[in-house]
Amino acid sequence: MANRARLWIAAALTLAACGTGPGNAAPAAPPVEPPAVTSPAVIPAQKATEAATEAATATPITYPAQGKDAWLIAPAESDPPAGHAGRLFRYRVAVEKGIVGLAPADFAKAVQTTLADPHGWTAGGRWRFQRVGPGRPYDFTVYLATPVTRDRLCDDNGDGYTSCRNGKSVVLNVARWVKGVPGFAGAGLPVYRQYMVNHEVGHRLGNGHELCPGQGDLAPVMQQQTLGLHGCRPNPWPYPDGHSYHGRSGVYDDKTPRRDEGKLS
Ligand SMILES: [Zn+2]
Repeated sequence: MANRARLWIAAALTLAACGTGPGNAAPAAPPVEPPAVTSPAVIPAQKATEAATEAATATPITYPAQGKDAWLIAPAESDPPAGHAGRLFRYRVAVEKGIVGLAPADFAKAVQTTLADPHGWTAGGRWRFQRVGPGRPYDFTVYLATPVTRDRLCDDNGDGYTSCRNGKSVVLNVARWVKGVPGFAGAGLPVYRQYMVNHEVGHRLGNGHELCPGQGDLAPVMQQQTLGLHGCRPNPWPYPDGHSYHGRSGVYDDKTPRRDEGKLS
């Protein structure tokens, strides 16, 4: 167990991968398709309406299991940097070719809106963010990648399911962007997408994984909420009520669902 614990810690500190670390050589979880990301039984009426409206109007996003490993970089934003004080992080947003139905500018807007939110990482006055376009210096890149390309960029256990951060690469798995996870069925897909952005960018800012503080509490944004909530409630924000919110450092030994095989229609 000691060895295994060390591996977990090493994975959390060095790779900052969001799936299970290389120490988890246990058999893969049984193949369970995540249920649909909407669950009328637990969605408040207004959210259910919003979800239904989005489903009716949004273009379906499709993608192969393995994209072209070639990228469309979104143009720079015209807004001033988000945040009022602190170090400026310049970032690029890149969408892998082969992902259909999501314009890079639209994905970039979702990332930018999340990073600029008053409940986001800028709230503490330590960080600011500005999206730059192709050919400009940057501090990190937010990739939207197909599962196989995700594995190459993350260079971790290659689970094809989770997202990750590896060095200057914040890698969001398009499978999760499109399908979400069962634990966020009640919160909704837009909330899970905010979580993906804030969690992986949180790694880029130097944060490691955290644990659920207690039954019924909000999950810290650095908890691996993709794999399990452990009694906490879904939460995409590092400053949910305007104050920094954390749990104890640590990771859970959650099983990762089977890798995503693409969504072509
Ligand atoms: Zn993580």
